[in-house]
Amino acid sequence: MSPTHINEASVAALNRAFQGAGAEAILEYAMATFHPHLACACSFGVEDVALLDVLSRLDAQPRIFFLDTGRLHPETYDLMAAVKDRYGLAIDIFFPQHEAVEAFVNQRGPNAFYESLQLRKDCCAIRKVEPLRRALVGAKAWLTGLRREQAATRSDLGPFELDHAHGGILKINPLIAWSLEETWAYVRAHDVPTNPLHDQGYPSIGCAPCTRAIGPGEDLRAGRWWWEAPEHKECGLHSRRALAKDHA
Ligand code: SF4
Repeated sequence: MSPTHINEASVAALNRAFQGAGAEAILEYAMATFHPHLACACSFGVEDVALLDVLSRLDAQPRIFFLDTGRLHPETYDLMAAVKDRYGLAIDIFFPQHEAVEAFVNQRGPNAFYESLQLRKDCCAIRKVEPLRRALVGAKAWLTGLRREQAATRSDLGPFELDHAHGGILKINPLIAWSLEETWAYVRAHDVPTNPLHDQGYPSIGCAPCTRAIGPGEDLRAGRWWWEAPEHKECGLHSRRALAKDHA
């Protein structure tokens, strides 16, 4: 598929063609088709470090970017340093626009996200969604570490999506079919550095004030925005047309 002919039909055809394909095959296609206009999002969760390791084994080097919201755990920064060291990677770091953060915090306070869904979405829009738009400038496709079983909002995802929110580029999820157990088996087998918070009950790690450890039997995303209903647990980075009315 030409990068200039991405539409719903071609994405559906890709999902059919790569049904049951492994992450390596999907990444090889992505590199062959889109490099050097391929970007890779990395937030240093276990899926993301697994994805970086698979890329390194393929000797594939898409542009890697990281969104620093300014509210992350210290452990996440330590892991970024360890990963850069291990793989010799260049990582583009995108920060929020400081004027927007200053205006929001001055008007609403530093922890306004606990007060309402709208204020939480406003904070995510400033600290994540807007920086992501800048990170994807020039990209014709981007890679994520999304897995289908991570959340109710991701249960019908395929390895390829048409990303309406970013100008109709292709969003590629090579690990979409991986289970959590497979992901951990991979990182252990390859001695990939991981965030120590995972060992403290954090299966999903985001901003420090919006992430808590989960207890036995809780959903894997229960610790993200734990005060909100499950159908709202997206930050806008992975919004889809079908979810637009709930997650805009
Ligand atoms: S996760 Fe929390 S702190 Fe981070 S951007 Fe969203 S609302 Fe703000």
